[in-house]
Amino acid sequence: MMKVLVVDDSPAAIQIARVRLESEGVEVISASGGRAGLTLARSQSPDLILLDVDMPDMSGFDVCRELKEDASLNLVPVIFLSGSSDADDRVTGLDLGAVDFISKPFDAFELRARVRAALRTKRLQDMLLERAKIDPLTGLANRRAVIERLEQEWARIQRQGGTLSFVMADVDNFKCVNDRHGHGAGDRLLMEIARVLLAQCRKCDLPARYGGEEFSLVVPGEATPGAVAMAERCRGGIQEIRLQVGAGTLRVTASFGVADSSSCDSAAALIEQADEALYQAKHDGRNRVVAPVMGEVQ
Ligand SMILES: [Mg+2]
Repeated sequence: MMKVLVVDDSPAAIQIARVRLESEGVEVISASGGRAGLTLARSQSPDLILLDVDMPDMSGFDVCRELKEDASLNLVPVIFLSGSSDADDRVTGLDLGAVDFISKPFDAFELRARVRAALRTKRLQDMLLERAKIDPLTGLANRRAVIERLEQEWARIQRQGGTLSFVMADVDNFKCVNDRHGHGAGDRLLMEIARVLLAQCRKCDLPARYGGEEFSLVVPGEATPGAVAMAERCRGGIQEIRLQVGAGTLRVTASFGVADSSSCDSAAALIEQADEALYQAKHDGRNRVVAPVMGEVQ
């Protein structure tokens, strides 16, 4: 269900908006001032904000400025509500990034129609953002999603403590597969590998196609030994893949590098360490898992 936040110092205006919009099948939450509205927006991530222009504690325009400066909220559409039909106000509101402007008192049909239109656009925007984070071949997350998730998890362990591991994997001699059997076979192999990784992951982990024949796992809450065990299971699973290509059977192996947050000072350093461990695994003969603090596991 989509969630609409109504920010207005008039309880009557909130009540009317609530009645009109709840019949549209949206969840309505409300705040009676600008400050409270910002707090609620941050904690509830609404899909749309209806924002009164004139409020005693903070003008709607100032609230909108703060929303647009907040990276987690700047894509939430804002519709201004105003008792004035002043064209200058409308221009100011739209220039601040609002998608629409509704005059009070509300016309019930207009309010519903404008909210519906804004939510349609929001849904489409969410879908495009989601797709931009998915690798179309394997359906796994892509590198952009990995970076975003690592940054989030990094911020979380800074706040709450805990551990985070990152695994980098690379298919061994993948270029030969493409050269000998064609890209179709290569693609099928990548899909099989994605299935193996997905099967070994918990709900909180993020398996991803990092790029080309590189895969990765974000493993929250686990230090190196736990992540190494997971990487080992993935390595074993990939080794078991048998892909029918023409009259023959294609087999494949992968190398893994593992690092955890305890020896890193940023999410970027975690990626770098896992990458170095992966390089070591390749150097040591492939089809193995390497973690810097543990040395070679196999
Ligand atoms: Mg007001």
